[in-house]
Amino acid sequence: MVNNLKQFLKKDVKNTLIKKDESFSFNCAKECWGTCCIKENVGHLQLSIYDVYRLLKKRLDLNILDFIELKIEEKSNLPRAYIKWKENGHCPNLEEDGSCKVYAERPYTCAIFPLSSEFRIDDELNTVTIDYVLRENLCYGFLKDAKPLSRNILEFLDLQGLEKIEELEMLEVKKRDEWQKKYDLKSFTDKQLHILGQALYCLQDKVLNKNSYFMDRYSEILKIPKRKKRVENFSAEELTTLALEEFAPRFLEKFHKEKK
Ligand code: SF4
Ligand code: SF4
Repeated sequence: MVNNLKQFLKKDVKNTLIKKDESFSFNCAKECWGTCCIKENVGHLQLSIYDVYRLLKKRLDLNILDFIELKIEEKSNLPRAYIKWKENGHCPNLEEDGSCKVYAERPYTCAIFPLSSEFRIDDELNTVTIDYVLRENLCYGFLKDAKPLSRNILEFLDLQGLEKIEELEMLEVKKRDEWQKKYDLKSFTDKQLHILGQALYCLQDKVLNKNSYFMDRYSEILKIPKRKKRVENFSAEELTTLALEEFAPRFLEKFHKEKK
């Protein structure tokens, strides 16, 4: 397992916009498993907020900082999470046999591979839509040896169980867009952006050296009434929605006012 992504490919990768009813032929074959799970072939693997909370629920053996890296995105100046590759360049979820330890909860980018998605925001209609891009010839799964199967995009997405995931991806895209339009994010301090990162991705983590969770700590600071339910019992979906609709917006508003 773990091959060089380019070693089988004789043709150039072709990126084509593809409609939901259009078909493509592909099969992720076992002899290739793991190839798209190493830094050498992927570069950065971006994670959405929902990805991070779903992964945390699956990898109770790991601390959040064992598998994600938080960076401040240059363009937006907002925190963004990425997979933290292991020292050998492998994904922390990659098993010895090339399979994925978190297959059912794998990140959106992994689940839609070999497609990628482009989010389109319509301000007037207040909607987000997704365009799919087929990255033809990108990997072994397009070759005859992989015995590709023909499916249309809808069938492919349905197979990966992406409906709920895409709903929350769209919510995140919409919120990030709103924040960029509303606030002068470049004027926020490193400390404020660090807190914002925790409010987005770390609600279920313990505050360093303290026996309390970020969610409880930040509820106090933001004067959000404490929930009756214990933090560990919130689902990944609930945590994502709280981060995007409650904690991050309130911190952004607080930081914005502090500047005045
Ligand atoms: S998605 Fe493509 S590169 Fe990744 S394991 Fe499957 S066939 Fe190989
Ligand atoms: S999360 Fe799973 S599918 Fe995605 S890169 Fe890691 S091992 Fe591969």
